[in-house]
Amino acid sequence: MSGEKAYDEQKAEKMLELQQRCSECQKCGLCAGRHNVVFGVGDPCADIMFIGEGPGEQEDLKGEPFVGKAGQLLDKYLTAVDLDRRSNVYIANIVKCRPPQNRDPLPEEQDACIPWLREQFSIIRPKLVVCLGRIAASKIIKPDIRITRERGKVFRKGGVLMMPVLHPAALLRNPADKAPTLEDFLKIQELLSDIRNNDE
Ligand code: SF4
Repeated sequence: MSGEKAYDEQKAEKMLELQQRCSECQKCGLCAGRHNVVFGVGDPCADIMFIGEGPGEQEDLKGEPFVGKAGQLLDKYLTAVDLDRRSNVYIANIVKCRPPQNRDPLPEEQDACIPWLREQFSIIRPKLVVCLGRIAASKIIKPDIRITRERGKVFRKGGVLMMPVLHPAALLRNPADKAPTLEDFLKIQELLSDIRNNDE
């Protein structure tokens, strides 16, 4: 077995073990109404990680992030820049259990859940983190982020590049924002290409 393959398999095993622990989590009140813990999906060896705020109804029922209408739109953007949730990205949320009536996750729920995301992050060690929407961007990039003004801007935190983009659910409500968001995804593609070239 090559060293690289062994390393990839170790990451996959660690992620599975983390998922098993997370599936029993009762650290905040959101555990009461969930059908599934929506842990995350994708490649634990990905260079890029997408982070949303929390699961909605479809996600709660299926146990996978971004599988409703907004998720289908996200998949279209990913496809447009040669990314795919099954093979070369990792997608997770700030909170892993669905907030009732799709309300924003409360600060205390975010604080209770964020250690799971940190552990996912430390297994994946992505080079680029894309925050989907204001809640994720304010938790991960900076608390006072102005998502409509700062979307598409590149930040650097702890050696990791980070970019906020509009949440796909917001794009469904405001289709005029779809074209600028495609520009943001093209920028993500360029950044990834630069990162990979620098790694060679
Ligand atoms: S939202 Fe997070 S912290 Fe709260 S119960 Fe679910 S997994 Fe645990």
